Amino acid sequence: MEEVNTYLEDLKNTIEQRDPNQIEFKEAAFEVLDNLKPVLERHPEYIKRNILGSLIEPERVFQFRIPWQADDGSFKVNRGFRVQYNSTIGPYKGGLRLHPSVNLSIVKFLGFEQIFKNSLTGLPIGGGKGGSDFNSKGKSDSEIMRFCQSFMTELQKYIGPDLDVPAGDIGVGGREIGFLYGQYKRLNGSKPGILTGKGLDYGGSLARTEATGFGLIYYLNALLNGQSDKLAGKKIKISGSGNVAIYALQKATELGAKVVTMSDSDGCIFDPNGIDLDVIKQIKEVERGRISEYVKRVETATYSLDSVWDLDINYDIALPCATQNEINEKQAGLMAVNGVKYVAEGANMPSTPEAITTYKKHKIIYAPGKAANAGGVAVSALEMSQNSERLAWTFEEVDKLLKNIMESIYAKSAQAAKEYDLGDDYQAGANIAGFEKVARAMYQQGL
Ligand code: GLU
Repeated sequence: MEEVNTYLEDLKNTIEQRDPNQIEFKEAAFEVLDNLKPVLERHPEYIKRNILGSLIEPERVFQFRIPWQADDGSFKVNRGFRVQYNSTIGPYKGGLRLHPSVNLSIVKFLGFEQIFKNSLTGLPIGGGKGGSDFNSKGKSDSEIMRFCQSFMTELQKYIGPDLDVPAGDIGVGGREIGFLYGQYKRLNGSKPGILTGKGLDYGGSLARTEATGFGLIYYLNALLNGQSDKLAGKKIKISGSGNVAIYALQKATELGAKVVTMSDSDGCIFDPNGIDLDVIKQIKEVERGRISEYVKRVETATYSLDSVWDLDINYDIALPCATQNEINEKQAGLMAVNGVKYVAEGANMPSTPEAITTYKKHKIIYAPGKAANAGGVAVSALEMSQNSERLAWTFEEVDKLLKNIMESIYAKSAQAAKEYDLGDDYQAGANIAGFEKVARAMYQQGL
């Protein structure tokens, strides 16, 4: 007991000393270390072999320059990253994020979470992540293309179908993956297994676009069933209006729930009748417009500059699908007042540690992103399988596998929580179940 505490304190001190300014990474790492305490008490051999000391340090980190030319002829330079975090159970796998907030701390936190998420899928994929501080907002298609080409010119040196397979994340959708793949192919020849989230015409998988949002709702459904509850008739707040949010809206609505909010970085919409999927898809996917457009087309809706999480309405389920640390302690407190029973994360780490403590205090059941949003990377792994066997599966086949994977992630998290007597703590359950597979494999493989 004492030995475990000292070991964990030493690890936290090491992180603090090495990277004192990596706020997001420290948040993600400390959460996992705290949750793994009971596992270490049962497995002193993991302490002896310093498994966690190895796990918190990325196997490899690349940082590079991305020069590109804007339409007005000016020359720009962005910073690119790829973190190859852990390859114990398979090739590094994880998305690329394009957002001005991207720095090494953000890429490391995302890569670290990806290790546990990918392990939970049950598929043979390790953890990695990358990105750049490039801001896509207001950029033309040609600018996006030139940036992606320059990004891949450097990134291609480090990736490979059995080594490291990037995909999308915030700011990287089908358009960007197409430009990235085109450049890879120009430099190295055709190799579909190099990226996932590809277009259906050149090696992409059916249901990959829908996978994270659909998977979130499949996980949520399993969670509700476990509580002898059901999704039909529930009122839901979603934040965000990207790929994850849109397909969570679609599946939740199909299963009889009503989603009343969505947002973007400018503001949020509230539609008491339930958000209209077709209108959102037209604005976001076809026109690449702002969410405020919605209220010009649907008269029951209102627009506000506030965060979705400050909107004071009664509802049952919160699905944060925007970005990290979007829910603070006060907003989590408002959820309790508003009658919220469940929070399931479509985004990566959208709840601050204080918000999570508040959920637990008010008995709000909390499903962390690394379990609830694993559907995206799971179908990415299925895309890798299809690329390897040079076949394309039907939508129904992929969707069925996705549903099974999400149900098994819920079951594994619940089982781990039960085994360690942690009640409804699906956060600890996910961290423990995700860790145990990687830890066993690291132990077996030796230093
Ligand atoms: N970016 C997604 C995630 O956070 C998907 C990664 C992938 O498909 O490799 O899991």
